[in-house]
Amino acid sequence: MRDFFLSKNCKMIKKVEHIGIAVKDLQASQKLMEDLLDTKMYKTETVNSEGVSTGFFQVGETKIELLEATNKQSPIAKFIEKRNEGIHHIALDVDDIYTEMERLQKLGFIILNETPKKGADNKLVCFLHPKSTNGVLVELCQEIKE
Ligand code: ZN
Repeated sequence: MRDFFLSKNCKMIKKVEHIGIAVKDLQASQKLMEDLLDTKMYKTETVNSEGVSTGFFQVGETKIELLEATNKQSPIAKFIEKRNEGIHHIALDVDDIYTEMERLQKLGFIILNETPKKGADNKLVCFLHPKSTNGVLVELCQEIKE
């Protein structure tokens, strides 16, 4: 495992692609984040399958993704009910999501969705259970190439 991570040519996990923050009110948080980051929210997108409205900010190479629930069944609604607003997940940019899922599964990480699904921002995504990742919901994401 160690050798795998030290291998110089290996760039399976490229960077922290974004940090997802659960918010109650996307519009109110947009203003707060624009003030905080001194940059405009450059994109909004609703993902109906997940019951979320998202808003994106670019911060250097990384993005901040705000997530607001669009219905009560949404994972974001449940998160806010339990833990209030806050960091919801950390997303890692990967070259090949299928290879990474297989690698992590072999190491004992718990994959929440066996098949990658289409997320916001033209990405294939898959989540790792927080119970296998120090309590942090981790998203793997891979850009969908046309
Ligand atoms: Zn995300």
